[in-house]
Amino acid sequence: MIDKARFPVPAEVKEELIKKYPSKVARKRTKQIVINHPDPESMPEIGANVRTVPGIITQRGCTYAGCKGVVLGPTRDILNITHGPIGCGFYSWLTRRNQTRPPEETDENFMTYCFSTDMQEDDIVFGGEKKLKQAVQEAFDIFHPKAIGIFSTCPVGLIGDDVHAVAREMKEKLGINVFGFSCEGYKGVSQSAGHHIANNQLFKHVIGNDDTPHPEKFKINLLGEYNIGGDAFVLEDLLERCGIKLVATFSGNSSYDAFANSHTADLNAIMCHRSINYVAEMMEEKYGIPWIKVNFIGAESSAKSLRKIAAYFEDAELMERVEQVIAEEMAKVEEVRSEIRSRCEGKTAMLFVGGSRAHHYQDLFREIGMKVVAAGYEFAHRDDYEGRRVLPNIKVDADSRNIEQLTVEPDPERYRPRKTEAERQRLKEQGFEFSDYEGMMSEMERESLVIDDISHYESEKLIEIYKPAVFCAGIKEKYAVQKMGVPCKQLHSYDYGGPYAGFEGAINFYKEIDRLVNSKIWGYIQAPWQKNPEITATYAVK
Ligand code: SF4
Repeated sequence: MIDKARFPVPAEVKEELIKKYPSKVARKRTKQIVINHPDPESMPEIGANVRTVPGIITQRGCTYAGCKGVVLGPTRDILNITHGPIGCGFYSWLTRRNQTRPPEETDENFMTYCFSTDMQEDDIVFGGEKKLKQAVQEAFDIFHPKAIGIFSTCPVGLIGDDVHAVAREMKEKLGINVFGFSCEGYKGVSQSAGHHIANNQLFKHVIGNDDTPHPEKFKINLLGEYNIGGDAFVLEDLLERCGIKLVATFSGNSSYDAFANSHTADLNAIMCHRSINYVAEMMEEKYGIPWIKVNFIGAESSAKSLRKIAAYFEDAELMERVEQVIAEEMAKVEEVRSEIRSRCEGKTAMLFVGGSRAHHYQDLFREIGMKVVAAGYEFAHRDDYEGRRVLPNIKVDADSRNIEQLTVEPDPERYRPRKTEAERQRLKEQGFEFSDYEGMMSEMERESLVIDDISHYESEKLIEIYKPAVFCAGIKEKYAVQKMGVPCKQLHSYDYGGPYAGFEGAINFYKEIDRLVNSKIWGYIQAPWQKNPEITATYAVK
């Protein structure tokens, strides 16, 4: 429970945040700012996945950024061409610090390139399909990739170029897999629509293309892990030490072949629920692979997730090996954690980032005794906040209708339920949850603030009122926050830090937060407007 003697009254903070808005805007924002009650019966309904009011400075990215930048961006060997003006292409060019490790130095790695058709005025007037075909041909001639993805940006949708027809034609001509994404920036309210579009096309064009079986006993895919700052490398190592075969990661340190073969795994473990639950649902429907929610951010959560995966396979040897790895890793974590906790205990944090990160990183702060007083997502839907139990009550809006809903049926030859009904039932009786996510609010403190699609103005007000020890967000907020004398930790790109996943990552994060919140430098910072609040000017010409 938030300590009322130490912290402002949340209802008053909410009032303060919205009182400057015109009444229509305030009515909308009031639904997206809630005071948390973590119990499912009294949990408030939050407004989410709705359009940002024009004029408000939002943290959000566009649909194209979610499709190309987030989901497909971390794949090393699909050559991704952005069909549109060059500015859109730059927006999704490795700004998240995704890393990759090709098996050999000479193996394909297109992540360091930015491929674009660089549309000009003429292409907008006369159509850009011809230029796109040329770009695909040129990319093929130079790089000989096994697959090419084509991403549409806003102008492409406005002039009506048919990227899918171009993809079909070039696929036939070149004999490689070429597929398009109708992920124009305006297609949805945020990058969330782009994730869904990316999931659909991967499912239609890539997943299931290679049936080669793996001999290992415990085979999983990791979904919603994007290898920022090397997170996936830590998790790959961790799973290998436990004896768990990672067939594919969507899409950190990923490859086309791994995607194509991912339907041979026996379990899908989801990290970022929002960006990829669609793929997990469709793979269960078509191939019979169950999915579970995991979280490898935080030492306790990593241990819990490893145990959950081991429990799914119901194998005593695996469980024992997992416990050994946890014990070894926890000993290293404890050594660092207790010392850092003594310096961080009681300090406050705020997190406004992503579609699961604002939830997952709270575990790391809790482990060093810090309190999260406010958090929210940029592009989540209600289930990411309140849990999947609200799915039947979520209204389908115009934006959701904008995105193709695939009808998926069991594959006549390859559908194989990995667990019988009786096995599932037995696991459920032991408290095992299939296809479920309880959402962020159930784990946040009572009376903490939960804010969806926070605006720049609201962030500044919150910082002014609470003076948190650290504010977690992205590059768009970073310097404005730091000019207020508060350190900002980027959780989209990790600044220059990381990895933060798994046990090793937890140690890195504790150390980084210790450095940030205990540095005296922040007390010396004064923004220019603190010294000179009024900008004065004179006309140059009289
Ligand atoms: S909103 Fe449209 S124009 Fe802007 S970056 Fe996204 S795709 Fe490009």
